Amino acid sequence: MYCIKDKIKNINLVIGCDIGCSYCYARNNCKRFRSIPDFNIPTFFESKLRLLDNKKYSAYLLTGQSDLSGWKDEWVEKTFEKIKQNPKTQYIFLTKRPERLNIQTAPDNAWFGVTITTAKEKVRIKQLFENVKAKHYHLTFEPLFEDVGSLDLENIDWIVVGTETGNRKGKSISKREWVLNIVNQAKEKNIPVFMKEDLICAFNEDEFIQEMPKSFLGEEV
Ligand code: SF4
Repeated sequence: MYCIKDKIKNINLVIGCDIGCSYCYARNNCKRFRSIPDFNIPTFFESKLRLLDNKKYSAYLLTGQSDLSGWKDEWVEKTFEKIKQNPKTQYIFLTKRPERLNIQTAPDNAWFGVTITTAKEKVRIKQLFENVKAKHYHLTFEPLFEDVGSLDLENIDWIVVGTETGNRKGKSISKREWVLNIVNQAKEKNIPVFMKEDLICAFNEDEFIQEMPKSFLGEEV
C-alpha cells in the first residue's frame, strides 16, 4: 500500500478556486499558510513552471489547489508549452466544471479528468469529452456522498477512488459497496484503478487495488 503522493507529485502552479466545496482542504491550507490573500481569486505562479522540467517524478498533478476551470487561457497556454517540452512526463488536470472549458488541442502527455461525488455529477464525463479534446481522460471519485450507479467509462484511462479525509463536521465516508461498484465497472473495462490509502480499513488485502497507468510509473507505453 502506498500514498498516491509517493508516485504523483503536486505542483500548484495555480492556487485559488471559487467553487466553494464544503470539504476543500486547499482553502484551509491557504488560510493556514497565507499563500494568497483571497482563495476565491486564483493566482498563477508563473515562476513555478520551471518545476515541470523536474524528471524526479514521471507524473505531476497540477490542480491540487485549484480547478482547471478557474485558470485563465493564458496560464493554460504557458503550461501546455512547458508540458510539450517534457513529452515523457505526464501532467494531470482535474475539474468540477468541465462545462466551462474549451480546450481544442492539448499535448499528448496532458491528462484531463473530472471529479464525481454524486450520481447527478456523472454528467461531467460527457461535458469533459465535449469540451476537452485530449489523448487521455481520467475520473476521480472523492469524496463519495452516495452510490453513483452505472457509469459510461468509454475512453477513460484511469480511475481514482477515495474518501473524505480530515475532521470536518459531517464528513462523508465512502461506503464499501459504493467503492466496489466503481471498481467492478472499471475492471470490466480493464481500466486501472487506484484506491487511496484512506480506504484501506474497509477492504481486504486482495480487494485493495492501487493501479496506475504505466506512463505514470516511468514505464514505456
Ligand atoms: S474544486 Fe477543489 S480547489 Fe475548488 S473548492 Fe472544490 S475542492 Fe477546493
